[in-house]
Amino acid sequence: MPHFEYRNGELHCESTSLRTIADAVGTPAYVYSRAALVENYRAYDAAVASHPHLIAYAMKANANLGVVATLAREGAGAEVFSGGELFRALKAGVHPKKILFAGPGKTREEMRDALKADILMFNVESAGELALLDRVAQELGTRAPVALRVNPDVDPETHPYIATGLRSAKFGIPIAQALGEYRKAAQLPGIEVVGVHMHIGSQLTKVAPVADALARVVNLVETLRAQGISVRYLDVGGGLGIRYRDEDVPTPVQYAEVVLSAVRPLGVTLILEPGRSVVGNAGILLTRVLYNKETPDKRFVVVDAAMNDLIRPSLYNAYHEIRSVREVRGRPSLTVDVVGPVCESGDFLAKDRALPAVDEGELLAVMSAGAYGFVMASNYNARPRAPEVLVDGSRYSIVRRRESYEDLIAGESL
Ligand SMILES: *Cc1c(COP(=O)(O)O)cnc(C)c1O
Repeated sequence: MPHFEYRNGELHCESTSLRTIADAVGTPAYVYSRAALVENYRAYDAAVASHPHLIAYAMKANANLGVVATLAREGAGAEVFSGGELFRALKAGVHPKKILFAGPGKTREEMRDALKADILMFNVESAGELALLDRVAQELGTRAPVALRVNPDVDPETHPYIATGLRSAKFGIPIAQALGEYRKAAQLPGIEVVGVHMHIGSQLTKVAPVADALARVVNLVETLRAQGISVRYLDVGGGLGIRYRDEDVPTPVQYAEVVLSAVRPLGVTLILEPGRSVVGNAGILLTRVLYNKETPDKRFVVVDAAMNDLIRPSLYNAYHEIRSVREVRGRPSLTVDVVGPVCESGDFLAKDRALPAVDEGELLAVMSAGAYGFVMASNYNARPRAPEVLVDGSRYSIVRRRESYEDLIAGESL
């Protein structure tokens, strides 16, 4: 993982030792590399530089203000999934005209907030949502800029929980019905049709499903134009995968080639919504070994991070590489389960993993944890949520402090 490397026998983030950070903020803690974030963002920006575009970072991957502000300063927009993410995007300094509002369950209040903020567009997912948005916009005496999210019915060949472009998914409007919905939308006084949106899934390791989906969507755009419905934006969503283990993933350049070849002839502004591929390999979860535990059947490494901090292994059976912060060669390799303190058998960070023997008190780094890590953290078992640290060279800032016990009960009363 670039920017997370051993120096003088210790794992560093950029020029800052992870041990230094653990000493300062304790464990567990999320650590992000500013350089990695910026590089990942710029790789997309450069890959599509030849065409008018907006890169709307998908905030659900990591909504920390420090992270989002770093990307906003690079020119990124934001794709938000809730009123809460809209609030965060604005606080982080994302320009409202670079914000897209997605998701299948927007409420009336969320629509009002977004209309008042004057965002770039809503990605609408159903006829019912279109009707409500039309009413809310009229109440406010405005028109809501809209792209319909169409479901192109392709198999993105990823984990079923993160495949969204299949006909059976709850997302989007089936492409066969899209023309009819667009015709309706074009008649609504509170709606201004501006684009078409698709997003077929996450952790994509192949570009072919994107190309298939795009071919269908390009067809739709041409049909819409032939019927006098103008399309200025084509939003192809996010979803490019990252390497967690040994996956071969397309680069932004390879991805952009496929996307641009489909989009260029249309003369539309291209929107990309990458999340995981911007932040995933820009962050780690730092944790400390509490105990080495052996039963007749298994060896366990009990650490102070748990499923409430990083749920991906429990939820998706996801693989995260685990490295010791202290680089010691020649340690014997043991097959272990790395588990947390939470009262659930599903509370693990790794199963049957060959790891060099670790000592109690030693620091470990759970790699590739920058995306869908902290954002999915909870207070289960009354565990305060971990701090988040943003490293910039040899300096770092605590961009979110560790929660206290008082934070746990704030808002409750006896
Ligand atoms: C989740 C999501 C994204 C980002 O997906 P990544 O896999 O993190 O790149 C983009 N667009 C939409 C509509 C999403 O739901």
